[in-house]
Order: sequence, then C-alpha cells, then structure tokens
Amino acid sequence: MAGRVIFIGAGPGAADLITLRGARLLAQADVVLFDALTDPALKSFAPRATWVHVGKRGFCDSTGQTAINALLVKHAREVGTVVRLKGGDPSVFGRLEEELQALAEAGIACEVVPGVTAAIAAAASSQRPLTRRGTGRSVSLATAMTRSGDLNATRTADTEVFYMAGKQLASLSRQLMSATWPADTPVSVVSRAGWPDALHSDHTVGTLAGASVLHAGRPTIVTVGAGAHALNSPSPTEPSGASTGEPLKSRASPVGDARPTATSKPEP
Ligand code: SAH
Repeated sequence: MAGRVIFIGAGPGAADLITLRGARLLAQADVVLFDALTDPALKSFAPRATWVHVGKRGFCDSTGQTAINALLVKHAREVGTVVRLKGGDPSVFGRLEEELQALAEAGIACEVVPGVTAAIAAAASSQRPLTRRGTGRSVSLATAMTRSGDLNATRTADTEVFYMAGKQLASLSRQLMSATWPADTPVSVVSRAGWPDALHSDHTVGTLAGASVLHAGRPTIVTVGAGAHALNSPSPTEPSGASTGEPLKSRASPVGDARPTATSKPEP
C-alpha cells in the first residue's frame, strides 16, 4: 500500500518559524524532499529520515517540476510518510497544484500544513502591518515574474506585495508607475525576512531601484502602498532598539534614499 505525502510549510527562515504541527509531522518522516530556501537546521527535526534536496529558485529549475512530481510518487510508494518541505507556505507560489495533482492521479493520500509566507514574515520583520484601518483594506500577494520570465507589476489592492522581484527592482519601479502607482507611493523592501540577518529599507515607487545593491542576492519581498507606510510614531533620534543596527548604517550610502535597518533584535 502507498504511503502518504505531507506538504509542510517551513516558514521563511529560521527553523523556529515552522508551526508546531509542521515540526511534529516532520519528525514522522521517512523521506523529506526539501527546497533550497528551507533552513538546514530543520534537519534536526527528522534526523533519521532520508533528506533529498530538490531545490530550485525562481524559474532556473535545477530539478524540473516533472522530476519532483515523479520523485514524490516514487517515494510515497516505497515508504510510509513522505514530507514535502517547502519554504514559506506551500500554497503561495509553491507549485503546490502540480504536486497535489500528480499525487491525486497516483491515488496517494496528501495533507497540507500551512506555514508563514514571506509577505507575512516581511511585515513582521519591518513592523509594517499589511492592513491599516481605513486605508489598507485589501492585500494582494503578487509575483512579479510571468511564466516567460518577464516582469509584470500590478495594482489590484491597497497593499500589493511582490514576490520574486528582487533581481529586477529598477524594472519593477517603471512597471509600478505604468500600473498607475504614483511615484511617491511608499515601498518597503525586506530581504531574508525571518532570518537573524534580515534587512529592511524604505523607498518610494520612483526610487525603488536604489534598493538593488543592499538586497542583492537575497530573497526579497517588495511591499507597495498602504502596508509600506512608516508608522506615525515619533521617530527615534538615535539608532537604538529593535529596528536599527549599527553595522548596517555603513551600507546605507549605495541605496540613495533608503534607510536600511537590521530587523532582528540585538542580543540582550
Ligand atoms: N512559498 C514561499 C514563496 C516561494 S517563491 C512563501 O510562501 O514564502 C520565492 C520568493 O519568495 C522569493 O523570490 C522571495 O520573493 C520570497 N521569499 C522567500 N523567502 C523569503 C524571505 N525569507 N525573505 C524575503 N523574501 C522571501
């Protein structure tokens, strides 16, 4: 009899952002198929399982989707519990539909455990709530990349959160203006949200290109509109506390109007 496949959202970064349910089910795995973006420290949750890396980033698949589907079916036929560990939440830009479909066609039982998606982790890291009373009543999770690898920006909600745009912030800036976002609309950029070395910087739609250097080579979330606004609290006179970090100040110069801050709390 075939085993079962459990899709588990690993969250965006540090291993402790996985859910308790996810961690408990991961511990029951015989085989774990995992992505590039998941934290290697998660391996300690299932030390006896066979861990198979099927990582891919963006559209430069190192393991094609068809091969991953086939691997899922193969392992599920061989062992009791297969875990498919995905970064963030499996239902958000995670190719979950193809994998569920392949398993359904093979008659294999599945379960999906949610995870913290990068948009939510970025909002938490930067302390910029995605919804705002009165002004931010809708949130859109959007991918900036089309299937053909082109960039495509949209304006469909008060807060528009873009995944997979990190490499093309200059084009995104132009496309956002074409999509009718005014040039002075606030944009909050967070890379490696949820990790200890998360970075956050503030821009506008018109000056977003300035974020490229600071966040280069890191998974990045771009939040545009209501949810990107800085809070209306008196700004601290000196960098201190949870939202600033001295080493990062020296990195502020290449990013124009950006105000990069470390989003992790300093050690007590
Ligand atoms: N299923 C994932 C998204 C996968 S698409 C989720 O729910 O989060 C990959 C994109 O997610 C990256 O290009 C980047 O835009 C975003 N991303 C993933 N992890 C991130 C992180 N820790 N910080 C910022 N963005 C992240």
